[in-house]
Amino acid sequence: MKTSNYLAKLPQEATIKNIQVLKDYDLISLDVSIPSQRLCPHCGSNDCVIKDSGTIQTVRHIPCNHRGTVVSFHKRRLLCRDCHSSFYETPYWIHPSLRMTQALYDSILLDLIQPLAFSEIARRNHVTQSTVQSVFQSIQFGRPSRLPETICIDEFKGNSGVWSSKSHRWYRNKYHCGISDGDSHSVIDVLDQISGVYLNKYFHKFSLEQRKHVKYFCCDMSNGFVSVSRKDFPNARICIAPFHVIKRLNEMVDEVRLRYQRQFQDTGDSENMKKVKGIIRLLKTREYNQAAYWGARFNENKQRLHDAFEVAPDLLEAYEALQFFHDILASSPYSIQSEELTEWIKQYTVSDVEEIHSAACTIRHWRGYIQNSWKYGKSNGLSEGLNNKVKVLKRVAFGLHSFEGFRKRILLTCGKLRLSNDPLSILEKARDGKEIRL
Ligand SMILES: [Zn+2]
Repeated sequence: MKTSNYLAKLPQEATIKNIQVLKDYDLISLDVSIPSQRLCPHCGSNDCVIKDSGTIQTVRHIPCNHRGTVVSFHKRRLLCRDCHSSFYETPYWIHPSLRMTQALYDSILLDLIQPLAFSEIARRNHVTQSTVQSVFQSIQFGRPSRLPETICIDEFKGNSGVWSSKSHRWYRNKYHCGISDGDSHSVIDVLDQISGVYLNKYFHKFSLEQRKHVKYFCCDMSNGFVSVSRKDFPNARICIAPFHVIKRLNEMVDEVRLRYQRQFQDTGDSENMKKVKGIIRLLKTREYNQAAYWGARFNENKQRLHDAFEVAPDLLEAYEALQFFHDILASSPYSIQSEELTEWIKQYTVSDVEEIHSAACTIRHWRGYIQNSWKYGKSNGLSEGLNNKVKVLKRVAFGLHSFEGFRKRILLTCGKLRLSNDPLSILEKARDGKEIRL
């Protein structure tokens, strides 16, 4: 094996003739031996001879020690003796349509799996941004080939859409919907709309047999997703992750706090207003974590909460409801959790505080599905992690306008590729211009 070729990611049959150090890049001239197998692209015949030495082709190659490199070699013209057509040889280590080596193409692909801006990927590979763009455009993701056993579905804020050249404007959707595999923890598809009609249409593209295969359906406390599950997945158990319940209860606590804040503001009671202002983080912290999270400020924070509860008694009830629910989540086994939840619902649905009553009724309504999540140990945590990653992507890309590009980037960075040891084997289809189906 030629070590230099191995290190420079050049084919073994090539010999480096010369290396020229130019201003912007290093030019490597190669001598490539004639391949033994020469297939005619027109008739598939193996009987091809060299017609002439053709032209010298230069293509971009992976950078070496932070210097961009360009490879030049003789591209021979071949003649098929069967159909008498002549054609240029296409070495396997050159990308068929882009002017770069396969090694560089793979390197850019691997960088696209990371949440990096195109400009950063271009800088790393010593190419222009438009080159990265063309590699990105060569990848196409199709619908997933099959549905997983556990489907997690969640909406996220995207603000991307489709450009209409006819009316010369973007048709944007504020919310998009991510569908992920709850077992392998990877995103399998992203849809640009979250309406029930749209989702039903999407899932009906899969056969009933496939949809019957889905055992769990994790979503948030919204009628839309639940009715989609009931309609499309006859065997699925619906699970509402505790995350969504805590989120709802956090909102409830804040609603009560805001009510007091406004009330004090209207009466001009600035002393009391200060007490209830800016304590939402303290209210949300689980009591179990207080010592660890607050550290040296533990006593000070405790006092602040105490002061607030003195002037806002409803806030204390809301806070206790939230803490009680945290305790239920922490307890086990499932039978005890269930008993405690019954107790919780009994206590807070009769609350005189409107906000608490309303939140408790919501939880009573979804109770069965919340318990499913405990019973089967399913959660929507991954989808929530997705939201964070989406934010990073939008940030590094300084906003993503096109939904198609957005979807592709999410599938690249959060899909199965991220978990795979050999993501290139999955991305191999992109090379042939085929759709990748996760
Ligand atoms: Zn031929």
